[in-house]
Amino acid sequence: MNSCGSATLTGTTIIDVTAGTRLFAEGDRGDAAYVVERGQIEIWVERAGVKTTLATSGPGDLVGEMAIVDGSPRSASATAVDDCRLFEITKDQFDRRMQRADPALRMTIGVLLRRARSLLASDRAARGSDVSADGYQTAIGELRLESEVADAIRDRQLEIHYQPIVDLVTGRLAGLEALVRWRHPERGLILPDQFIPLVESTGLVVDLTRYVIDEVCRSMFEIAFSALTNPINVDGLFASVNISARDLAWTNFAADVEAALGRARVEPSFLKLEVTETALMSNADAAISVLRQLRDLGIGVSVDDFGTGYSSLSYLARLPLSTLKVDRAFVSAAAIDPTSARVAMTIVRLAEILEVPTVAEGIESKADRDRFAGFGCRYGQGWLFGKPMPLEQIRDVIGTWDAAAARAEPFMPSVAWDVDVA
Ligand code: C2E
Ligand code: CA
Ligand code: CA
Repeated sequence: MNSCGSATLTGTTIIDVTAGTRLFAEGDRGDAAYVVERGQIEIWVERAGVKTTLATSGPGDLVGEMAIVDGSPRSASATAVDDCRLFEITKDQFDRRMQRADPALRMTIGVLLRRARSLLASDRAARGSDVSADGYQTAIGELRLESEVADAIRDRQLEIHYQPIVDLVTGRLAGLEALVRWRHPERGLILPDQFIPLVESTGLVVDLTRYVIDEVCRSMFEIAFSALTNPINVDGLFASVNISARDLAWTNFAADVEAALGRARVEPSFLKLEVTETALMSNADAAISVLRQLRDLGIGVSVDDFGTGYSSLSYLARLPLSTLKVDRAFVSAAAIDPTSARVAMTIVRLAEILEVPTVAEGIESKADRDRFAGFGCRYGQGWLFGKPMPLEQIRDVIGTWDAAAARAEPFMPSVAWDVDVA
């Protein structure tokens, strides 16, 4: 920014500028565009000592966007008319999106830009953009979220919560699933469903996974220590971390995980990775090779949300898997009607044929627990046993775990259900 006034960075993306600040000058290299959040920005040129105002942009308008698209010098100058708050979109963010865009779309943007530039050259009346368009607002919202999440990963604002995974036969605590939460300075605790899809689509998930694995490995000593204080009720715990299709596409993934384990001096058998059926199928060949490398290192892999995708069974049977996690939709449906219960039972039996133990997700009641134990499901996870909780709290839960209270009791389906649980 070519400053004649003063500017304050309140984060990487929000910039406060005082009246009179020169945001950029004609001829500058364009490395960012700005969305005006508050105040007015004047866009102007000077020719033969005469200043001409081309446009005044207000809240919701995008300023300086052309230079970040084609990297050419700024074709006009921009100055804050009054005190302004701006949201910055960097050329780097834009370039990453362009790299992912369809080649035809990239070409079209290039052509449109050249046309726009030649129009502007003949008639320098630049106009503010159409602020009311829904797509535009969504795109800005996404860019903002992307920047905020990237900052959150860097500033370690992400917290890991742990949820118990229980051996239904013995009632002993068997493992923990690590689930990420974002402690936002203004919006409080944000659940993963609100940012993981974007993090996955932008590729930021590779950094997120690395962060979560590092944090979990660093906490493994405390977790293992708590387990040792209650050996009658707790197994040698494993921790499961969720990974995405993009992690599997990264050829050095297994080596990175091995390095994280080495840094924290954690045995590979303490770590499990959970990957959804859909992610496995999206790049099956790469997935098989990474899964084999992980298996050779001694790291377990679970298929998450099992039953919701379209995996071919012969493919699944070839994978080195340590558990299949039955999606919680089957657990809740099985509580409602006998047909769904039979479907759920079939899924558990299918896993048995593949010789892979199952974990039922979303066990909310004793009836859920007893029903799935009756189907032959080995492990359960859900609110009945505990919600995801911070490290300090899960350590107390581990220390006071009571296996006898958690283990399943023989399940008697009602006569009307006609479900064979033998
Ligand atoms: P998931 O892997 O299927 O995780 C289980 C989700 O079910 C968690 O939601 C958990 O809080 C919730 N849950 C557990 N027990 C019960 C229950 O008894 N009843 C109900 N209704 N829900 C239950 P959460 O923590 O909001 O996570 C949502 C999803 O976000 C996860 O689904 C996972 O796909 C993703 N996710 C979470 N952490 C990470 C992460 O570190 N990396 C990646 N890539 N994805 C993550
Ligand atoms: Ca999971
Ligand atoms: Ca799941």
